[in-house]
Amino acid sequence: MGIKIALVGNPNSGKTTLFNALTGAKQYVGNWPGVTVEKKEGKIKGKKDVLLADLPGIYSLSPYSPEEVISRDYVIDEKPDVIINIVDGTNLERNLYLTTQILELGVPVVIAINMMDIVRKNGDIIDVEKLSENLGCDIVEISALKNQGINELVEKAMANVGKSITPARPIFAGAVEHAIAHIEELLLHDKPAEQQRWFAIKLFERDQKVIDKLNVSEAHIAHIEEDIVECEKLLDDDSEGIIAAERYNYIDSIKDGFYSNKRIRKEKLSAKIDKVLTNKWLGIPIFAGIMFLVYYVAVSTVGGWVTEYTNEVIFGEEGIPALISSGLKSLNTAEWLSALILDGIVAGVGAVLGFVPQLLLLFLMLAFLEECGYMSRVAFIMDRIFRKFGLAGKSFIPLLIGTGCGIPGVMASRTIESPKERRITVITTTFMPCGAKLPIIALIAGAIFNNSWWVAPSAYFLGVVSVVISGLILKKLKAFEGASSPFIMELPEYHLPTIGTVLRSMWERGWSFIKKAGTVILLSTILIWFLSSYGFENGSLTAVEDMNNSIMASIGGSLAWLFIPLGFGVWQATVGILTGLIAKENLLSTLGILYIGLSEVSDNGAEIWGNIQAAFTPQAAYAFLAFNLLCAPCFAAMGAIKREMNSGKWTAFAIAYQCVYAYVVALIINQFGNLFMGAGFSLWTVVAIALLVGMIYLMFRKPGKNRLQPRLAN
Ligand code: GDP
Ligand code: MG
Repeated sequence: MGIKIALVGNPNSGKTTLFNALTGAKQYVGNWPGVTVEKKEGKIKGKKDVLLADLPGIYSLSPYSPEEVISRDYVIDEKPDVIINIVDGTNLERNLYLTTQILELGVPVVIAINMMDIVRKNGDIIDVEKLSENLGCDIVEISALKNQGINELVEKAMANVGKSITPARPIFAGAVEHAIAHIEELLLHDKPAEQQRWFAIKLFERDQKVIDKLNVSEAHIAHIEEDIVECEKLLDDDSEGIIAAERYNYIDSIKDGFYSNKRIRKEKLSAKIDKVLTNKWLGIPIFAGIMFLVYYVAVSTVGGWVTEYTNEVIFGEEGIPALISSGLKSLNTAEWLSALILDGIVAGVGAVLGFVPQLLLLFLMLAFLEECGYMSRVAFIMDRIFRKFGLAGKSFIPLLIGTGCGIPGVMASRTIESPKERRITVITTTFMPCGAKLPIIALIAGAIFNNSWWVAPSAYFLGVVSVVISGLILKKLKAFEGASSPFIMELPEYHLPTIGTVLRSMWERGWSFIKKAGTVILLSTILIWFLSSYGFENGSLTAVEDMNNSIMASIGGSLAWLFIPLGFGVWQATVGILTGLIAKENLLSTLGILYIGLSEVSDNGAEIWGNIQAAFTPQAAYAFLAFNLLCAPCFAAMGAIKREMNSGKWTAFAIAYQCVYAYVVALIINQFGNLFMGAGFSLWTVVAIALLVGMIYLMFRKPGKNRLQPRLAN
């Protein structure tokens, strides 16, 4: 029998390059049985009896992705003689996370630090001797691309064949080691000594695949569960999170030997900033404070003033409408065409464009936070909390992207391995106020609440809170129960972004908004104007004097009753909700057109706010805002949901859930608002209380008995 070497490493660490360099062209490529994950084997050049197996590129050895399961099963079951762990030398810290796990598998490991050509070019030096001593295995510096060091690597690998395994690092916190020792003693004494630690750690992590593989009895599970729960209480995290944190701590503790002083200085500065910004207690309040400021500046103050100016001066009485109006008069335009242009297009598209400055300001600040490295920290902070709510830490990334636009947000959920968590994330991502919803917020804040400081930030937090509430409710449902995957993410060093990148990012988002105003919104406004200016009188289609007789009024009116308990059961609001499904900005242009029609002077833009103010009570207006933020997103985003869910049934569930949730929240807001404003008790107050109680129950109910330990049940 020949010698078997397994090649393991992160994606893009240079595995394929090294594999090709070592094997030449003589390789076998196929798929692993049953799954479409690439399987490659080949003989090492000049060594006839040495077989090299290229395992899939992976970041960890969790049970959540087929690649990771294949890799660990291969090592455990096939027991290769040596593992070559290839790591990207320009990114040691992240790559070593996998290394700490490979070292536990019970097979001799040689680390190949690849990309040394780049490391050297960067002027970085890696203290190989110290690192090798710390990790307890041989290390060779190579450049797979330049064919440097690979012969030495093969020699080192051969020398490790049959070598006894040194005890694996890292050593975890006392309580964890205690639990692991118990597990080994109780369950694993008949396993090969060098594999016991690996199995014990996986059992500690409640890895269902390993539990099944070892066929552990319920009684034994219950027994080791005591130790695990003890640890979790002590260290305030779930067991998987504990192990992940221990690994990172360990890597952190040995990283002084990694790089040159300059890089270390930069990392040290980042670490200092992180001590505050990602602090367990301060992290969330700081994040809340920052987001509050962002929305406060973009919507309530600076951005609000600019928008007010555009709405009142540029699109106001003396502004563009007046200009266009006199232009149209001098051209002797037909009356209906002037009406279409002034009451339809200028009022509708103008209502949307007026908010562009506000949006640009918001996007500018978000781009800065993303570029400087803060937003990746936020994802990191949120992981701890989100996992408690059944969401992956990675869920925060789709949510973050969803603040710009829900479509890429929903698409970003693809990076979440567990299908259940992915679904929950897809369902909740569009709760975040996307760019198109911002003008709705600004409109309500301006028209009803006199631009009060709290309106815009509260809308943002309504989105975040809805995500959390929904996570709590959904994860209790049978279809969603199950494990949550741990969070692995590279935290870039903090740096000041260049003005160019920030401006570009702002403009890309802003431009797509403006483009929409010129296309979808323009077409919709024409349609809305037509439907709201014409109606059937005596069986024939005519221009109506009173908008309440228009086609639009009858469409909206037929559904408006639905929204009476929510406080906005008028046809105009209903039409707004419907047109919002085409694009959320449409809501604005719709209200623009519909509420202009109420005023006496039909080309008076500034009247819109007053008319809206007259039509809604404050609580109804806020309920209307909440409903529109939370209900089904625009059609394009629904399409994205359908693509990601890849199932009609799940898409229908997602949209139904969003609408029902939005309805319930808006009803509660309006009814409690009524009560608070002194409207007295009514049947609907009782309904609102019942719904609130029901919601709290759904969030905090204990899962059924059969679900007490979902991860352990067979
Ligand atoms: P894999 O995903 O692990 O299979 O990685 P690949 O072998 O496909 O390599 C990823 C990228 O890194 C490719 O563009 C390679 O050309 C490049 N690469 C691999 N090894 C080296 C190296 O030693 N030095 C440099 N500069 N680039 C490398
Ligand atoms: Mg590859």
